[in-house]
Amino acid sequence: MIVTTVTVRVPAKVNLQLSVGPVRDDGYHDLVNVFHAVSLFDEVAAAPADALSVTVEGPAGVPTGPDNLAARAAALLAEHVGRRPDVALHIRKDIPVAGGMAGGSADAAAALLACDVLWEARLGRETLLELAARLGSDVPFALLGGTAVGLGRGERLTPVEVTGEFHWVFGYADGGLSTPAVYAECDRLRAAGEQDSVWPQVSDDLMAALKTGDAEALGRALHNDLQPAALSLRPSLRDALAVGRAAGALGSLVSGSGPTCAFLAASLDHAAELAAALNDSGRFAAVRPVSGPVPGVTLV
Ligand code: ATP
Repeated sequence: MIVTTVTVRVPAKVNLQLSVGPVRDDGYHDLVNVFHAVSLFDEVAAAPADALSVTVEGPAGVPTGPDNLAARAAALLAEHVGRRPDVALHIRKDIPVAGGMAGGSADAAAALLACDVLWEARLGRETLLELAARLGSDVPFALLGGTAVGLGRGERLTPVEVTGEFHWVFGYADGGLSTPAVYAECDRLRAAGEQDSVWPQVSDDLMAALKTGDAEALGRALHNDLQPAALSLRPSLRDALAVGRAAGALGSLVSGSGPTCAFLAASLDHAAELAAALNDSGRFAAVRPVSGPVPGVTLV
């Protein structure tokens, strides 16, 4: 059978808990990272070609050369199976770029699955997860989806039991924040004694809220150690978060390294009301209601 194009859909993530430990000898931080996949998707299509190429449809600021994380994923998979990475990747981006929602990592995970299918490599989930971890700490979760605790650099994943569905509204900012710059600011704030650094632990309150499907308890348990650093680099986020709280969000936080803000709603109707209030505030470049958890990479 001649396969022409394989298309894969992949979700964005928000971190329900992001606890950052002290810097390790290798320069990384030990993390407790509770990932939650939400219904905001990129699509990656892989088609046979003479050489590796990437085209991007959507926002500006995404590299189309070998630096693109999807291209790196295709090259790594090709090397692993001993073939040339002769594939044309087309990325339709809906996940904000440098928004703290792991869009690049999502595209890498999508490219791994798309090339695995296109090249009939059939590597299986464990091998794909291993290759994903080599591409970046957030890539394995994009394969898995749902809700999961990530330990180590975030790549050692355990799925979390969740009852029901949660409704969120995301507020996008104009322009992104660089993840390494936010971690560096977190280290600086800690060295200056402005933020404590404690050994990270999975939050029992968060796990209980997810298990029982209690949105109010989830709202209270949301936590992001990178938020002070993101607010320090982008002070306008403070007011942006306050707008959501004033409009009745059950919880609010900066998503990952920011600058996207995530607001938890009580229901689908409440998410629509919250989205309207956030839009009216004029503090966000765009506002998107979404739900989670959703599955990870999926063939379209
Ligand atoms: P994270 O939440 O994992 O910290 P992020 O969502 O803040 O990441 P990304 O959108 O993943 O950030 O992109 C960060 C940078 O990576 C971009 O500014 C861009 O230069 C580069 N990049 C490489 N490949 C991609 C891709 N496929 N999509 C988006 N950005 C990419």
